[in-house]
Amino acid sequence: MAKQTAPNELETESWQQEREDLWIERHSVNCYYCNGLVDERHCLPADNYNNNDGGDICPACQKTHTKITDVVVHDDGSVVAFTLQSTAAQDWISENTHTESWQWMGRHTLVVDARFAEGLAEGMCEAGLTLN
Ligand SMILES: [Zn+2]
Repeated sequence: MAKQTAPNELETESWQQEREDLWIERHSVNCYYCNGLVDERHCLPADNYNNNDGGDICPACQKTHTKITDVVVHDDGSVVAFTLQSTAAQDWISENTHTESWQWMGRHTLVVDARFAEGLAEGMCEAGLTLN
C-alpha cells in the first residue's frame, strides 16, 4: 500500500505565518487561566471550569484544570444525595424543584427519596449539567 505523503512542513508554517494577523484579528481571545493569546476555535468556554465566571480556556489549561462536576450523586439505596457543586446546579434546583428544608444536608446537598432520584437526575442531564 502506498504511504501517504506528509504535508510539507515548511509550506504549512509559512502559510500559518501569513495568516497569523488574520486569526488574531478574528479569533484571538485571552485564556481565563494563563492569559495567553489563543485561538477561540481551539478553546472551550471556561464556565465549566471556573463556575460560570465566563471567558475561554485554552487546550493546555484544559489539561491542567479539572472541569467542575455540577452535581455529585451519592446513591445510598433508599435515598440519594445530590451535592450541588456549581451555581448552575443550584439555580437549576431552585428553578425546577420544590424542596423542603429537611431535605438539605448542609447548604449544598439535597437528599431525595430513591423513587424521585432518577427523574431528578434526568432533568439535570437534560439541562446540560454534569453528574457523577
Ligand atoms: Zn490557558
